[in-house]
Amino acid sequence: MAKSDTETRRQRVNYFLIVFAALSVSVWSIWLFTHYDRGKNKDMVLIRLVVGPLQVNCFILADEKTKETVVIDPGDDAQEILKIIKDKGLKVKYLVNTHGHFDHVGANKALKDATGAELLIHEGDAQLMAAAPKQSRAFGMSSAASPNADRYVKHGDVITAGEVSLKVLHTPGHSTGGISLLGQGMVFTGDALFAGSIGRSDLPGGDLKTLLRSIKANLMTLPDDTRVFCGHGPATTIGDERNENPFLNKESGFE
Ligand SMILES: [Zn+2]
Ligand SMILES: [Zn+2]
Repeated sequence: MAKSDTETRRQRVNYFLIVFAALSVSVWSIWLFTHYDRGKNKDMVLIRLVVGPLQVNCFILADEKTKETVVIDPGDDAQEILKIIKDKGLKVKYLVNTHGHFDHVGANKALKDATGAELLIHEGDAQLMAAAPKQSRAFGMSSAASPNADRYVKHGDVITAGEVSLKVLHTPGHSTGGISLLGQGMVFTGDALFAGSIGRSDLPGGDLKTLLRSIKANLMTLPDDTRVFCGHGPATTIGDERNENPFLNKESGFE
């Protein structure tokens, strides 16, 4: 009798712990995936906006003290991005495109005109970016032309805004000049790596082997707790992708 009472109590405790853990995870996820989000560095502001018909994640990453800001992938909805910048009194130093597809570069011109920020991209995607309006027409959409980049970035370059710093990792395979940006325990992967998936490699400049090699050499070498902010869809971590991404397991030829 006493034994079964203890067991019942233990079961209740286990049940409580499971519910508590599930609730904690949900609350944490909601917090992480909503628009306003802080990183590990308490003096940094990270805001995610989902822009345009292809629902690109545009990230506004700012140093809270100096207000210096990097905008990653201003793909569309320039007025919404500019409103946040104005409301928070941010000074945009750089616009960085993870790659040159139209859905990631459509608001470059409006943001550059309004802020005077320097536009950065990898040279390998300069032509792709120049062809953004044509690309968008091929998808039955329309995208504004982007100005040319002010500067090309390459693997190993560091982009800084106040205390915020982002190291450029060349991660081609979705496109020739695709880059990821690493800093503050986070990596912005553009369309190379997604939560539970990887980018398309069937578009011009894409190549599956190259993409897998990029992910293996430059992303899967990062610590498991590195937070991954993707070009589309929810955020994840390197550890979760290492363990759960079906494209990155041995059965898929990924070693
Ligand atoms: Zn893309
Ligand atoms: Zn995209």
